[in-house]
Amino acid sequence: MDHFHYHQGVLHCEEVAAPRLAAAVGTPCYVYSRATLVDHYDRLAAAFAPLDPLICFALKSCSNLSVTRLLVERGAGLDLVSGGELYRALAAGVDPGRCVFAGVGKQDDEIAAALEAGVGWFNIESEAEYENLSAIAARTGRRPRAALRVNPDVDPRTHRYTTTGRRETKFGVDLERARAFFRRFGGDPHCRLRGIHLHIGSQVERIEAYVQSIRKTLALVDDLAAMSPTPHPIELLDLGGGFGADYETAQAPRPADYAAAIGPLLAERVAAGLKIVLEPGRMITANAGVLLTRVLYTKSSGTKRFVICDAGMHTLLRPSLYEAFHFAWPCRVAAGHVPRTRTATPDLPGLEVVDIVGPICESGDFLAVDRPLPPVQRGDLLAIFGTGAYGMTMASRYNSQPLPAEVLIAGAEATLVRTRETYDDLIAHERASQPIALPDTSSSAAASGPTVPGIPTP
Ligand SMILES: *Cc1c(COP(=O)(O)O)cnc(C)c1O
Repeated sequence: MDHFHYHQGVLHCEEVAAPRLAAAVGTPCYVYSRATLVDHYDRLAAAFAPLDPLICFALKSCSNLSVTRLLVERGAGLDLVSGGELYRALAAGVDPGRCVFAGVGKQDDEIAAALEAGVGWFNIESEAEYENLSAIAARTGRRPRAALRVNPDVDPRTHRYTTTGRRETKFGVDLERARAFFRRFGGDPHCRLRGIHLHIGSQVERIEAYVQSIRKTLALVDDLAAMSPTPHPIELLDLGGGFGADYETAQAPRPADYAAAIGPLLAERVAAGLKIVLEPGRMITANAGVLLTRVLYTKSSGTKRFVICDAGMHTLLRPSLYEAFHFAWPCRVAAGHVPRTRTATPDLPGLEVVDIVGPICESGDFLAVDRPLPPVQRGDLLAIFGTGAYGMTMASRYNSQPLPAEVLIAGAEATLVRTRETYDDLIAHERASQPIALPDTSSSAAASGPTVPGIPTP
């Protein structure tokens, strides 16, 4: 459920009319609904409550500080995938102990910062990464907890770019390797290897894929607990995220459907002390946001009709990257054109089939292809729905387009939670060009130094 609806032909986010908002902050801009974010989080929390999970919101889906704060205040921990996200997380005031740190390519300075902050769990993806974490932990004297990301070799049948749980992806280690991994590192004195992490993909609408991968993983958990001479009891099972969002109305399963299938597999183990972590991203944020964009021009070419907007692949990459579907509709429509559903083929009279494209100099710059739309003209405002997740966080400055504004709505109140970038922002980091003093890296000691210099943190 979300709080974007048409009232007298005008799109509203909660009680705020989209055209008024666009007039105030300009376009393109991302608009998030507080009530929707809270509703989605609460539904997920309620559905899984019998497992008493730690819900670590996947920050990479929507990392705006105000949105993060809202979810953290609601009780969420965070799933982090970089030092930058850790920095944001701390700025949002989360308890670092309620955060997990994932990612196949953690850098030394990111690991050090996460140790320093006291992040709850490191999700480890390879032997080499574990050795590095252990070495850095030994130097700092902290003893982190780690979960091994396993790859259960289950096909979630989502887009090939969002499949992560098959053997042929770069993520995790396969189940056979996992046993050897615990034999080798289970007794590590610097790092406590006590958990298993799973994340099989994104927009996983086949609940059966979760069931299969959890079953396979529980068999591993039992093997590890019975291993001789040294048993490896597992304290934490992180199920990852990937729960589907309803990009087209009533398609994806609801949190309760996932919980009904997953809960019974784990109830007894939770009662026996196993801690569960969930890492939902898009299920919470996708339908809590829309992108507002202005029509710049319309034109025809061959048999095609184009609607050219001020948002494009630089604002919303998902259509270009994954051929993702996002429902798009004018913010102000005649009575007969109020959409009843958000599917690709609304059943209404008088629609035109168009491509909705952006201003970027790429043929792959589109928001929607062959889409029936009420007739629009220059100056009209469009909403691209379901863009709260992986919208702003994937936006770029390609073609030197400043990043858009972000707005958070609560009832009749609108708050600018990220200002639109200026042209000055585009060149700010290029102003101070300066000669570089090159270090001598010819000696082997310098070349194989223990840490790779990273991003300076204030
Ligand atoms: C991206 C990601 C998530 C969130 O995925 P959603 O599809 O947004 O739920 C969770 N865990 C990990 C490890 C991820 O990489």
